[in-house]
Amino acid sequence: MPDTVKYVLDESRIPKAWYNLQADLPRPLPPVLHPGTKKPVGPDDLAPLFPMELILQEVTTERDVPIPGPVRDVYRQWRPAPLFRARRLEKVLQTPARIYYKYEGVSPAGSHKPNTAVPQAFYNREAGVKKLVTETGAGQWGSSLAFAGALFGLDVQVFMVRVSYDQKPYRRALMEAYGARCIASPSNLTQSGRAILAQRADHPGSLGIAISEAVEIAAQNDDTKYALGSVLNHVLLHQTIIGIEAMEQLEMAGDYPDIIVGCTGGGSNFAGIAFPFIGAQLRGGKKVKVIAVEPAACPSLTRGRYAYDFGDTAHLTPLAKMHTLGSTFTPPGFHAGGLRYHGMAPMVSHLQELGLISATAYHQTKVFEAGVQFARAEGIVPAPEANHAVKGAIDEAIRCREEGTSRAILFNLCGHGHFDMQAYIDYFGGRLKDLDYDQKELAMALAGLPSVVEPA
Ligand SMILES: *Cc1c(COP(=O)(O)O)cnc(C)c1O
Repeated sequence: MPDTVKYVLDESRIPKAWYNLQADLPRPLPPVLHPGTKKPVGPDDLAPLFPMELILQEVTTERDVPIPGPVRDVYRQWRPAPLFRARRLEKVLQTPARIYYKYEGVSPAGSHKPNTAVPQAFYNREAGVKKLVTETGAGQWGSSLAFAGALFGLDVQVFMVRVSYDQKPYRRALMEAYGARCIASPSNLTQSGRAILAQRADHPGSLGIAISEAVEIAAQNDDTKYALGSVLNHVLLHQTIIGIEAMEQLEMAGDYPDIIVGCTGGGSNFAGIAFPFIGAQLRGGKKVKVIAVEPAACPSLTRGRYAYDFGDTAHLTPLAKMHTLGSTFTPPGFHAGGLRYHGMAPMVSHLQELGLISATAYHQTKVFEAGVQFARAEGIVPAPEANHAVKGAIDEAIRCREEGTSRAILFNLCGHGHFDMQAYIDYFGGRLKDLDYDQKELAMALAGLPSVVEPA
């Protein structure tokens, strides 16, 4: 038996439909509310921001949503993504567990994000949109949308969180290589940005602020729409291609997961790998233990409140019920930039309330230790975000060793870390700190949650 076993599907097996978990939920999602009236939003309320096809995907309860031909044609460049059995890691850990990982770092941008950037660009172009505006933290989403925009002939403008803009020039250069325009946020281009800069000229920025800036620009321009890289139902839907492929690949391996692990920032790569299996369970299939892993410095699922909140700092977005740390919360500057969002996808939050998933949080030094152990066994250097999933999977494998049980563990290796080597340099130099969020700031942010009378 070779050390590492790779399960590859041929191109003809690229799924023809995404899987929509809303079809199988035992209780429907709480509605999204209008920020002004606090009544459920209708499709027309969202029309200034998104093309109608994506708005409909937000609310559809159809189980299978067809993937358009032109999107599948682009997916073909890197999909189906490989599934690996991590035999060398198993040996290092001396675990009886069978560890599998789905590798999403094979996409042009190096993460799972193009899985949704490509269909979002496609539907916008079909609707006659000329320009997309978005935000990005570490730059993974911005570079993915820049890539997709280049393919479909759309202008892309990206508000990048100031600290990352200064610290991660390579991601910025990648966006520019794809033809996008990248602006440090908070900026002087928007009212939301100017209001923040007036309070603090050297503000480091946050995803919540960058979202406000992008939404403001989209709302003011007819030919411009907004695109979001996580959190929303349609984004999670597009990511289910990960889990659908993994299910087929595990069938090739003659296995089925007992445990599924993913890291959670806004929840999209986690949903991508887990939802098809949770859906199968809800339809009477095998029960899976599903674990969301988040950073201890931005712990929305483990420490946040399940409440209606805004998606952005300036309160321009609709209200969604989700696990939130409060829209004004600014997490400390740890290295997994993609996990620094105050809220969690409403779908993922709902599953936690239903007891269908559980969550755990780790500090970053332990997470990097796991990532380095993984790299030395399997050869792939994970993105700092992905290290959270690696850590979660390794801990489950060690638990199997201690209990003497052989379980199948599947985790999502959502991206490679080639643009994040500064984080590894800091880790090897002993400069990574296990930051905790500011308790007082969290209390203040939670005290500022909007008051909402929940629809019956
Ligand atoms: C953006 C990103 C994340 C966090 O977003 P999710 O929606 O939670 O997946 C995690 N990992 C990588 C590599 C990312 O680019």
